[in-house]
Amino acid sequence: MTHAAQPRLANALPVRNVPQEALLRLDLEPFHVAAEPQLSACPMGETGICRNPFCSARFVPVRPHQLYCSAACRKSDDQEFRAVGLRAAPALLAWQMGRYAPKGTALADLSRAGRNYYSALAAQWLRDRRRRMHLAEELR
Ligand SMILES: [Zn+2]
Repeated sequence: MTHAAQPRLANALPVRNVPQEALLRLDLEPFHVAAEPQLSACPMGETGICRNPFCSARFVPVRPHQLYCSAACRKSDDQEFRAVGLRAAPALLAWQMGRYAPKGTALADLSRAGRNYYSALAAQWLRDRRRRMHLAEELR
């Protein structure tokens, strides 16, 4: 999509005028890099079983760390990760913003609500992924 084709919001800066220092900057490595030793010792799934929960097909990996049986499965799971991330992000910010707020303050309450929401989301997401994995097995 070109800049001209993007919708322009009333108060937003045109994309071409945003200075580099205004762009998102996270200096943390991706999780699979930061937790590589732990993931090697305790993989989050079985090698050769597609990580797309509703596929969960057995496949022969072409590369040692291949997680999905196909590009379509990887893309589908990427979309799910994005959807979960969009729900988790406000809760994570709220949690962190009030992490050290004095007890009994509105900010501390907001932080606790963020933590509780994030924990519930994570638990529900894992349960739902397992449910879809089992459904895929049953439908095979
Ligand atoms: Zn698959």
